[in-house]
Amino acid sequence: MMRTLRGQALRCLPDRGEPATLRNMFTRCKQFAAVLLLAAACAGAQAAGAEAIEVVERRTFLPASAHAPGMPPPSGTHEFSLTLAYFTDSGWREDVLLEIATHAAGILAQCSVSVTSIEIARIAAPQRYRYFATPLSRQVARALQLPRPTVYFVIDTLQQPAYDAEAIGRGNSRTRPELADTVWITRATRDPGIALAHELAHVLMDSGEHIEEALNLMRAETTPANTRLNAGQCERLRATGTSNGLLRPAKN
Ligand SMILES: [Zn+2]
Repeated sequence: MMRTLRGQALRCLPDRGEPATLRNMFTRCKQFAAVLLLAAACAGAQAAGAEAIEVVERRTFLPASAHAPGMPPPSGTHEFSLTLAYFTDSGWREDVLLEIATHAAGILAQCSVSVTSIEIARIAAPQRYRYFATPLSRQVARALQLPRPTVYFVIDTLQQPAYDAEAIGRGNSRTRPELADTVWITRATRDPGIALAHELAHVLMDSGEHIEEALNLMRAETTPANTRLNAGQCERLRATGTSNGLLRPAKN
């Protein structure tokens, strides 16, 4: 992401280097798709019976679980439970989500923050809801009321500018309160485990800031080498995450 708390639009993930003309064409296609999907949303509002957005399967994974062998044991001073949601027929799979979340948890562990459980919810919803678009995604979050922070794995974004991954904290959700403390990961996201750790750090710190420090997770560009958080970032992450009710002191 992310849209920052100051209303600036910062590019979180690198430009993929397409020629400008191709990229522009792609952008126009996305805008066109957004118009079509929003028109369909209005037209379809009367067909209430087919409009359900609901959890059809829900599973919880614990660090000791054989299903999450890479997840670090909870040994931090602070902890939280992470909720992941994905849509049926969106190209995402439960095992892939678990691997991404486990990778992200390992990165956040450097701040003495542990993920004590990962809950994965599979969502059934009409096709248009499987994309990130503020008016539609607000409906999704409002309908599901999943625990926060919530990470939604979607097909793509219909937002402009289009970010591969986006995080919404408290400061940038005043006009869309349903989306507070959520992360939206598209299938175009590279290095998704690192990207998720980056977006969760935005949410926990309630900050859209990027920094230039070498190898830092909060550099604007997400790469496999950029995974570090400095002492000040960790302190802010723990303090703000706790005061916003997203983290709790560890029980151990
Ligand atoms: Zn960012």
